[in-house]
Amino acid sequence: MNYRLDYPEIREGISKLCTDFPGAYWQKCDREQAYPSEFVKALTMGGYLSALIPEEYGGLGLPISAGAAILEEIHRSGCNAAACHAQMYTMGTVLRHGSDTQKSEFLPSIADGTLRLQAFGVTEPTSGTDTTSLRTRADRVGDRYIVNGQKIWTSRAEHSDLLLLLARTTPRDQVTKKTDGLSVFLVDMRRVDGLTIRSIRTMMNHATTELFFDDMEIPESALIGEEGKGFKYILSGMNAERLLISAECIGDAKWFISKASSYASDREVFQRPIGQNQGVQFPIARAYSQMRGAELMLREALNLYEKGENPGEEANLAKLLCADASWSAAEACLQTHGGFGFAEEYDVERKFREARLYQVAPISTNLLLSYIAEHVLGMPRSY
Ligand SMILES: Cc1cc2nc3c(=O)[nH]c(=O)nc-3n(C[C@H](O)[C@H](O)[C@H](O)COP(=O)(O)OP(=O)(O)OC[C@H]3O[C@@H](n4cnc5c(N)ncnc54)[C@H](O)[C@@H]3O)c2cc1C
Repeated sequence: MNYRLDYPEIREGISKLCTDFPGAYWQKCDREQAYPSEFVKALTMGGYLSALIPEEYGGLGLPISAGAAILEEIHRSGCNAAACHAQMYTMGTVLRHGSDTQKSEFLPSIADGTLRLQAFGVTEPTSGTDTTSLRTRADRVGDRYIVNGQKIWTSRAEHSDLLLLLARTTPRDQVTKKTDGLSVFLVDMRRVDGLTIRSIRTMMNHATTELFFDDMEIPESALIGEEGKGFKYILSGMNAERLLISAECIGDAKWFISKASSYASDREVFQRPIGQNQGVQFPIARAYSQMRGAELMLREALNLYEKGENPGEEANLAKLLCADASWSAAEACLQTHGGFGFAEEYDVERKFREARLYQVAPISTNLLLSYIAEHVLGMPRSY
């Protein structure tokens, strides 16, 4: 796997940084369901988490493909960026739709690491994938909004200062289109009352939580862009999210393939390497082919995104193919390791659990397929 890749210096820097965070570090965090604070701090200090923030606000001012290279390399090195990747994709909403005052108030501190923007509250227990049915309300009272409702799966809320929140500002029965009447807020969680955060233990270490809003007051200055247009803002950020998560999947696939092929070459059973058997070789070779194909789709989507297009088709295809590629590679790697694949010290079982998430979040495979069927191929809408 030594074909030419973009951003070689960034990749080398990340790969070097990741050597300080070997499997034993992640195994300990995993066992304790602990947040990898040291890892996030090292990335912040290295300037990597501010890659997408414009230089005028203290960031590196790089395009999204640089962010993708950073996340891919973290995952290829056996680490996990889930503890901090949201800073990259939530950034787009603030950059594109935030006011100059909001940008100059928050971005420099996010860039130097004194402020964390890691939490993104969209999903709710009762609405699920049907985002426009969300029930959290933000009612305007004078120069403030009063927020009531609940979010679920708001990851990293306990390790973030800011929360990008989607809430309904006009009741659904008072808008013509169900996508209208939703608004986005940048909530400074350090300065609010009426917010309760409860952590959720999950099958992998993900620092995810439930949020409860009980008359939580926020100033009107927390509103991003125009009131009622929030769904559109979030949607444009979702393509960026899909591309960045796809890059993580490619990184995971590369880690699994490399781990599987080297184990297959070393492990001897019946006095010969198991990798000499085509039954062992072929699933790994197939996973590699799938990964390379998915990677091409991702590159095309990143290219279009950087040209200023809104590549819905390509972003959805990339997410589908990259998540499938990482899952095939995970399966091949675990199978190649036989019983040892289940042992904590090999890291395969941990990465296997982590890779499974991307079939469901941030968007599930079914919803990607329904986008392709209905919006690309023109078949009747299912919902
Ligand atoms: C670890 C973790 C971290 C997360 N982090 C965040 C976060 O930080 N912020 C946030 O807002 N959300 C987050 N999420 C939520 C995530 O985006 C959702 O779980 C995901 O979008 C699926 O929604 P749901 O769980 O409500 O599933 P549901 O919508 O209840 O769907 C359940 C199943 O039914 C299928 N389904 C539903 N409707 C259809 C349909 N019309 N056609 C075909 N199939 C359908 C889905 O594909 C899925 O497989 C996270 C989730 C997890 C597990």
